[in-house]
Amino acid sequence: MINPTETAPRRRAVLKAGIAVLAAAPATALAQQKLAQSAVQYQTSPKDGQMCSNCVNFIAPNACKLVDGNISPNGWCIAYGPKA
Ligand code: SF4
Repeated sequence: MINPTETAPRRRAVLKAGIAVLAAAPATALAQQKLAQSAVQYQTSPKDGQMCSNCVNFIAPNACKLVDGNISPNGWCIAYGPKA
């Protein structure tokens, strides 16, 4: 016969472990969702006056919300979106 007072702590530990895994999942998924520079035709120079420093996705000083790796403020890619 199972004693409920003995299984409750184990059940809580299993639930806590499951919650910790779920909490960590979104950050991992986001990190993996960035696009490769080659996939968006990234280049290190501006195009027709458009450049990363004027893009809504740019994260100063050298990153992007969408594209992986080191991003130049003077760069450009096909995912460019002008700042409002
Ligand atoms: S132009 Fe492309 S690489 Fe540059 S910040 Fe915008 S989305 Fe990122």
